[in-house]
Amino acid sequence: MFYSEFDSFDAWSALLAPHLPGVRICRAETVQHPDDVHYALAWKPPYGFFAPYRNLKLLVNLGTGVDSLVGRDDLPAIPIVRLSDPDMSRMMAGYVLFAVLRYARDIPAFERAQREQRWHYLHPRSPSGIRVGVLGLGELGAYTAQELARQGFDVRGWSRTPKAIAGIQCCSGLTSLNDFLSQSDILVVMLPLTPQTAGLLSAERLSRLPAGAAFINVSRGAIVDQAALTEALRAGQIAQATLDVFDREPLPPDDPLWRMDNVLITPHLASVAIPASAAQQVADNIQRAARGEPVNGQVFPERGY
Ligand code: NDP
Repeated sequence: MFYSEFDSFDAWSALLAPHLPGVRICRAETVQHPDDVHYALAWKPPYGFFAPYRNLKLLVNLGTGVDSLVGRDDLPAIPIVRLSDPDMSRMMAGYVLFAVLRYARDIPAFERAQREQRWHYLHPRSPSGIRVGVLGLGELGAYTAQELARQGFDVRGWSRTPKAIAGIQCCSGLTSLNDFLSQSDILVVMLPLTPQTAGLLSAERLSRLPAGAAFINVSRGAIVDQAALTEALRAGQIAQATLDVFDREPLPPDDPLWRMDNVLITPHLASVAIPASAAQQVADNIQRAARGEPVNGQVFPERGY
């Protein structure tokens, strides 16, 4: 059973059907016998959505972020998985690489100089002298950190539990966060939104960044105190920001961030679900659930991600 107001049923069912012989794929609106529904693919289903489906075995979240799902009290007690797809990781890494390289190569200064018809030579800096801090070393964060390391940056990563990733200086836990921030010339936020990460980057924590740092957020706006970020950008304590996510989306037309020359805004598209490459993985999890085997990419609501 498929439910999403954003994703194409026709695209998903056409891609899933060849992998799932014997499984009937239908839209939630057309279900006649709820007891026959065993697997749900859903993105932001309304409250109470799951109640009629007593025989559900697996819920597939049609996206990577699960913050709109895990805090609910109407979830069935079944495994929940999210999309995890190498193409999504690559798309995310591409976005972050673009944003980091734009700062590392001083492109905003050249954009400004061009508008003023001014030849403005700034000698390129070595990436090894630029410290890039990646908050969150999960599927997207770890992949992105490794891509950044391949470009020669001095990459550090922060996660909840200890990690060992070749070429990345890893640290974990809240006690190491302030030091981590103070050593990030470019900070990339790749954490999930959970009760522990909501508001994590407060005014006080943002002030730990080196003066003139660059800030990139591709995960969730609510992890950051957006008013404090705006003020830090206005004061120049944070010199530049690339923001794909906001505490309110769409970002309201009167938000001051729109008018700031040192902010690049994109409308929450750093990485998107690609049915053509994710369908195989979704079908594989459905077959695993059917055989009673453990599923891949499981979400743990009590952990928040
Ligand atoms: P994962 O769940 O794979 O990884 C999350 C990472 O964050 C892990 O390293 C985890 O630590 C760490 N983490 C979680 N909670 C804490 C905490 N309290 N303190 C420190 N570290 C913590 O997520 P993904 O990499 O797949 O995705 C990250 C987020 O990106 C998604 O949750 C989603 O919100 C966002 N996203 C945005 C998109 C966009 O287009 N802008 C597209 C897709 C996703 P540990 O390793 O120890 O578990």
